[in-house]
Amino acid sequence: ATPTSIMAGSGRAAEFGILFKGGEHLESAQAVEVVVLDKTGTVTSGKPVLTDVIPAPLMTEQSLLRTTAAVERQSEHPLAEAIVAGALDRSKALPLPEAKDFVNLPGYGVSARVDGRLVLVGTRKLMAERGVPVEAALAAMRQLEDAGKTAMLVAVDGKYAGMVAVADTIKETSREAVSRLQEMGIKVIMITGDNERTAKAIAAQAGIQQVLAEVLPEGKAEEVKKLQQTGKRIAMVGDGINDAPALATADIGMAIGTGTDVAMEAADVTLMRGDLNAIADAILMSRRTMGNIK
Ligand code: ADP
Ligand code: MG
Repeated sequence: ATPTSIMAGSGRAAEFGILFKGGEHLESAQAVEVVVLDKTGTVTSGKPVLTDVIPAPLMTEQSLLRTTAAVERQSEHPLAEAIVAGALDRSKALPLPEAKDFVNLPGYGVSARVDGRLVLVGTRKLMAERGVPVEAALAAMRQLEDAGKTAMLVAVDGKYAGMVAVADTIKETSREAVSRLQEMGIKVIMITGDNERTAKAIAAQAGIQQVLAEVLPEGKAEEVKKLQQTGKRIAMVGDGINDAPALATADIGMAIGTGTDVAMEAADVTLMRGDLNAIADAILMSRRTMGNIK
């Protein structure tokens, strides 16, 4: 492609809300063979809503939710925001208790002290690591996850106290955007720190067959590297701080413009609209600019 056609292509892409950071990325996008999509905030809206509060025997729904929200109020995770908003909604203006000694456990959950008692909120792995027996909760947890919800277990002083679940639904356009990529001969893979069941349920809704789940925050770049070792050209699409290393590692990194600045800084392309149709658009514009399209 000539410098003039690259400039024209970049300009046209910008009109569609697709911002290439340099001409070389407009040139390389046409070669993409695999697109890796982050789940939360990329395939989904990223605005989870509290849907279920299931107390263990002898706990009330109110006390479980208020204790959980007290801890989550200290976290900036979207899951935490959903729990706090849901609790404030349902608790009829009761103030939340104070939480002390908050600890963030990336990829696993959170912990803090509420009324002097140690509260843990998070995954099965977190509970296993801390020796909290949760077998009694697992059947209900699986049911929530098969519905595409993220369920989080709660323990108080080492005992299972209940679970809360949130739903983060796929964007209206995700299914169409995925199918366009697949029709272009591009393989689509979803990656997430969320558990396998929830991830598979969400992926199925979006028409995605391949899922990499329970990937720890620092593991996403590692997974992109592994995919590159197959010799394929990999695009990574994400919105979060967690996605930044993977966006930088991929052959082409695409950040969602509604996401974090950190993701946009690490990426080669910013997709200003949250709509994933922009991925296929970007690749098509590159093919056209490079003369690989009639
Ligand atoms: P994602 O890639 O979907 O953003 P994360 O790596 O941030 O996922 O988190 C993975 C899992 O760890 C979540 O699905 C959740 O089960 C648990 N987790 C993370 N943060 C919290 C939190 N603040 N409260 C409870 N659980 C959490
Ligand atoms: Mg995300």
